[in-house]
Amino acid sequence: MTPDAPATLFPFSDRSRRLQAEVRRFLDEKILPAEAALQAHAADPATRWTIPPLLEALKDDARAQGLWNLFLPDDTHGAGLSNLEYAPIAEITGRSLFAPEVFNCSAPDTGNMEVLLQFATPAQQAPWLPGLLDGRIRSAFAMTEPAVASSDATNIALPIVRDGDQLVIDGRKWWNTGAADPRCKLLIVMGVTDPDAPVHRRQSMVLVPMDAPGVRVLRPLTVFGYDDAPHGHVEIEFTDVRVPVANLLGASGSGFEIAQARLGPGRIHHCMRLIGLAQRALEAMVARARTREAFGRPLGGHGMAQEAIALSRCEIEQARLLTLQAAAALDAHGNKGAKDLIGMIKIVAPRMACAVIDRAIQLHGAGGLSQDHFLAQAYAGARSLRLADGPDEVHIAALARSMLKG
Ligand SMILES: Cc1cc2nc3c(=O)[nH]c(=O)nc-3n(C[C@H](O)[C@H](O)[C@H](O)COP(=O)(O)OP(=O)(O)OC[C@H]3O[C@@H](n4cnc5c(N)ncnc54)[C@H](O)[C@@H]3O)c2cc1C
Repeated sequence: MTPDAPATLFPFSDRSRRLQAEVRRFLDEKILPAEAALQAHAADPATRWTIPPLLEALKDDARAQGLWNLFLPDDTHGAGLSNLEYAPIAEITGRSLFAPEVFNCSAPDTGNMEVLLQFATPAQQAPWLPGLLDGRIRSAFAMTEPAVASSDATNIALPIVRDGDQLVIDGRKWWNTGAADPRCKLLIVMGVTDPDAPVHRRQSMVLVPMDAPGVRVLRPLTVFGYDDAPHGHVEIEFTDVRVPVANLLGASGSGFEIAQARLGPGRIHHCMRLIGLAQRALEAMVARARTREAFGRPLGGHGMAQEAIALSRCEIEQARLLTLQAAAALDAHGNKGAKDLIGMIKIVAPRMACAVIDRAIQLHGAGGLSQDHFLAQAYAGARSLRLADGPDEVHIAALARSMLKG
C-alpha cells in the first residue's frame, strides 16, 4: 500500500492505524501462506463443497485477536469504526479472496447483518443474528430473478402472498451468493407483497430459513467457469414455501427502502476490497517485471511494461482517494447524502480493478491466465462487480440524473 497521500488527506484514527497493522500482519503471516491449501481444498472434487477446517481455524484465531466484525459501525455488536476508519482495513482484506471471511467481514453476511440490526425486531434477530455475528452460520440475499431485468428493482416479481398467519412464496431467484454454503441457514428474500401499491411500495423482504420445505437449490452458476465453491452463486426455486407473517422485515412494502439501505455500505465495502486486490495485482506485476527477462532485458526495461505499471499506480491511487472521500461523506452525511459519491466509486473501482488485473495477467504471460496465479480468479471477481450490486449503466444513469436535476 502507498499510504502517504491518503493518510495526509484523510488522517486515520490511532485505532484504525493499529487495526490496519494487525490485520496486515495477520494477512501476511497467516492467510497468504494458507492460500495454496485453501485453493487445493476448493479444487478437490471430494471436498470442494465443504468448509476447510483450516479456514475455521483462521477464523478462531482472528476472533481471539479481536480482528472480528470490523465492518460494523455499531460498537455493541461490532468494532464501532466509522466508514473512513474501516476503509483501509477493508482494502487490506481485499488482497486475498479468503481474508474477508476470516475476519467475518464478507458479503453477503455483512449486508445481511446490517439489515437485521437495522430493520429486524429482537424476536426476528434471535434465531440468526448471534450465529452470524459469531461466524457460526452464513446467510444469502435473494433479490435477482432470471425472468426480469433485476437491475431495476421495481421489476422484482416473485409473489409473496398472505394466507392467514403465513406468507406463501412461489417463484425463482438466481445469483444468490453463499446459498450453497453448508453453513447457510438464512435467506433474505425480496418479493411482491403489495401489487397494487405505488411502484416503490410493492416489495417486501422476508426471512426464510434455508431448510424451509419448498426451498430447492437448482444449480450453482459460474463466473467465467468459477463457481466459488463452497459458497456458490446459486439458482433457487421456491415452491409453496410458507413462513410466519412475523418473518416480514419492517413494514409491508418497505423492501425497496431496505434494499437501498443495505446496498450503500455494501457497495463501498466492495470497492475498498477491490482496491486491495488491484494493489496486490500491481505488486505482482512489479515483481514480475523485475525478474523476468525478454529480448535482452527485464520486462520492466520495456516501455510498454513501464506504462502498464505506472498507469496502474495512477488509477489505483485515484480510486483509493475517491473511495476514502465517499467513506468520509457516508460518515458525515449518511447514505442519502453520500449517494453520488458511492455511485461514483461503484462506477470507477470495478473498471479500475479490471484494467489493472488485466495488465498484470498480460505481464505474467499465459501463466497469468492459469490457476498458478491469483490473477484469473481475481479478474472474474472484479468483472462481476461491474454487474453485482447494480450494473455500471444504472449507476452512471443515476449519477447523471442527480447532476442534471441540480
Ligand atoms: C458474482 C455475482 C454475485 C451476485 N450476487 C447476488 C446476490 O447475492 N443476490 C442477488 O439478489 N443478486 C446477486 N447478483 C445479481 C446482480 O445484482 C444482478 O445481476 C444485477 O443487479 C443486474 O441484474 P440482471 O442480471 O437482471 O441484469 P439486467 O437488469 O437484465 O441488465 C442487463 C444489462 O442491461 C443494461 N442496462 C440495465 N439498465 C440500464 C440503464 N438504465 N441504462 C443502460 N443500460 C442498462 C446493462 O448493460 C445491464 O448489465 C450477483 C451477480 C453476480 C455476477
